[in-house]
Amino acid sequence: MNKQVYESPSIQKMNGGLMNKFGTRSSYEPVKQIDGVAVNFLMEQFGSPLFVLSERTIRRSYQSAVRAFKTRYPKVQFAWSYKTNYLNAVCRIFHQEGSWAEVVSGFEYRKAVGNGVPGHKIIFNGPGKTDEELRVAANNGSLIHIDHFDELYQLIALSDTLDKKPKVAIRVNMDTGVYPLWDRFGFNYENGQAAEALGKITASGKLELAGLHCHIGTYMLSPDAYVKAVEKLGDLAWKCKTELNSPVRYIDLGGGFPSTNTLRGSFLPGPDTVPPVDEFAEAITSRLLKLGFGAEELPLLLLESGRVLVDDAGFLLSTVLAGKRLPDGRRAIILDAGVNLLFTSFWYDHPVSPAQDFTHHTEDMALFGPLCMNIDVLRQGINLPLLNRGDRVVVHKVGAYNMTQWMQFIQMRPNVVLIDEEGGTHLIRQAEDLAYLEQLEKTPEHLKEINL
Ligand SMILES: *Cc1c(COP(=O)(O)O)cnc(C)c1O
Repeated sequence: MNKQVYESPSIQKMNGGLMNKFGTRSSYEPVKQIDGVAVNFLMEQFGSPLFVLSERTIRRSYQSAVRAFKTRYPKVQFAWSYKTNYLNAVCRIFHQEGSWAEVVSGFEYRKAVGNGVPGHKIIFNGPGKTDEELRVAANNGSLIHIDHFDELYQLIALSDTLDKKPKVAIRVNMDTGVYPLWDRFGFNYENGQAAEALGKITASGKLELAGLHCHIGTYMLSPDAYVKAVEKLGDLAWKCKTELNSPVRYIDLGGGFPSTNTLRGSFLPGPDTVPPVDEFAEAITSRLLKLGFGAEELPLLLLESGRVLVDDAGFLLSTVLAGKRLPDGRRAIILDAGVNLLFTSFWYDHPVSPAQDFTHHTEDMALFGPLCMNIDVLRQGINLPLLNRGDRVVVHKVGAYNMTQWMQFIQMRPNVVLIDEEGGTHLIRQAEDLAYLEQLEKTPEHLKEINL
């Protein structure tokens, strides 16, 4: 037997996230670089505020999610949820990795085509598709996910004018034990509406039934909800095979896996409460394998994950414009980035780190944006070191939904930079200017002259 190597004992302070005699946990480390690129360099080069995306983190998140599923189930395909972040550079990273596209509007559809995604690898979701959009999608062989009976009739009516038989799935809503129910999209499972829609599709003879779809919610903390979804879609899949003689090729479980962001008002931080993708994969795939399909007829598992794949890869760099004392004694900091850029701050407590060294005195403070609007609050209260005018901060985990839901309300949208895997920086969306903003405006003739 080998003699064990001696390790000297050491004592480390535990930060459990709970309140202890040192107060609540706070991030005491400055964040001076992202993927080895200095925050100061980025802001001097590209301005402030600034969105930064890490290509390395995107690829790693994607690869580890794919690995979690592919090691447990033989047929898995991810489709990138465009609305989560449809900057072309971001979409193309996912497509390079092998992801299909999942779109929910005509313009997202055209973006996917423009990014080089073949028609049959585009999933077209959403409750509002026009005749023209359906025609293009059907003729390209895309997977059209029908949301309601009117859309089903719309597609049947169009089918005679199309070059190809449309490939369709239905979106199904159901009770998965997570409330409030997401029941406004798709056909209901429990009341038999979904089965009825499937019957109408096969009876029409005009549509090719390819799959079954659901998207049961977002930031879902319960793997068990997905197990229920697999059971219910599995039951419908059996009906398609045995009763309708029209087996489906795929089951699409949508997105909804949570990123490690912390929900506003939740007691414990996200990283301590959010199940990892492996837990979802284990729950989903073990149930799928028990549905009773033979090895050759196992349905393809499609996943439309959004936030879990990109949230951690996004950073918002911002500069302190001012500090002030509120009448109630609280300290407040005004940043140059507001809720117009950080839509998700309405439901997440995004982690915020100073980007430079600081003294170890910390204080609870409010973080406001630059908008002249009462709602412009990034954090109501956060424990941070004292920050001075000109100091810089890094807001973390902002990659999902902000670069699509942002708006030019009072302030315009800033530069977005991608850091590639070698540490190179690329401007992937230029900051807006007044000319950009006004290019679509038209001034009527009688308003051209003003005399003040
Ligand atoms: C938004 C959306 C997604 C992505 O959801 P996440 O919660 O970001 O994973 C997937 N599918 C559909 C139909 C969606 O609307």
